[in-house]
Amino acid sequence: MSRPKQDFIDIAQVPTRVKTIAVKVGRDSANQKKKPVKITTDNKCSFCTGSKCCQYITSSIDSPRSIRDYDFLLWQISHRNIHIFKDKGGWYLIVYQQCEHLESTGRCSIYEKRPFICREHDNKECEFNARHDEGCDLYFRDYHSLDQYCRGKFKSWDNRFSKN
Ligand code: SF4
Ligand code: SF4
Repeated sequence: MSRPKQDFIDIAQVPTRVKTIAVKVGRDSANQKKKPVKITTDNKCSFCTGSKCCQYITSSIDSPRSIRDYDFLLWQISHRNIHIFKDKGGWYLIVYQQCEHLESTGRCSIYEKRPFICREHDNKECEFNARHDEGCDLYFRDYHSLDQYCRGKFKSWDNRFSKN
């Protein structure tokens, strides 16, 4: 999760699921040539623009069941940088907010004391390879996507506030 940076690397935009990457080699910009480099677990972090795994947190939440449960999620997702997803492990809130210990160089400023979750993070299949919304059962990025889902799930969704 924190790694040495390499010189002469053009990594402005690294698409997901890349297996190789073009790296500029040469002493000065006039003589630089692009050479494909195989991405491995050893060098992968050095190519990861913005250190994707240090840009968010997730928190497990109870599986919503009732209209009121979903309405509560709607309130949560109405807040900036909050997404919600469901995968085989259950339901999660995801908060996109960069860790304050991530330096502009991509290094961790508390590397020796970083939390267990950072130490145990496996870069074999990490955020570099796939976006969060890939492979989820459900992924909601805003109020409108969740609202639309609820409308399909509950016939009385749009009438939930009316008093009988
Ligand atoms: S997202 Fe993956 S490749 Fe990027 S810094 Fe984290 S572990 Fe390394
Ligand atoms: S503590 Fe360090 S390794 Fe962990 S998320 Fe923050 S910057 Fe990344």
